[in-house]
Amino acid sequence: MTPNSQIIRFLRRRIPAFECVPGCHDCCGPVTASGEEMARLPLKSDAEHAAALDELSCPHLGDTGCQVYEERPLICRLFGTTPRLACPNGKRPGTLIEPHIEQQIYQYFKATRHVLV
Ligand code: SF4
Ligand code: SF4
Repeated sequence: MTPNSQIIRFLRRRIPAFECVPGCHDCCGPVTASGEEMARLPLKSDAEHAAALDELSCPHLGDTGCQVYEERPLICRLFGTTPRLACPNGKRPGTLIEPHIEQQIYQYFKATRHVLV
């Protein structure tokens, strides 16, 4: 396991899970991810990227929601778990993410080149 994948696994495990409004994808949109995260996602064509961006959407959002849920990037997982990225529908975990873990995630964002998903 590479150092990058170890960090991703460490951070993923520390982001609290919670139940969303069924079928909701209001917080999906253009997001960025690290190379390690991108390598786990299926490739999308330039046309698919452009079409998603035109609608301020994500190329992995399908009719039934996120098509890459198990491998969705950290930023998607973070949404709703911190007041900085509060769910517009009032959903949240019982206990929000620990501030020092949130800080580690932002440090990972800063330290790693991210590209548009
Ligand atoms: S976090 Fe909120 S906005 Fe995002 S999918 Fe869940 S319920 Fe919808
Ligand atoms: S990767 Fe999935 S959860 Fe993240 S923005 Fe795209 S569709 Fe939404």
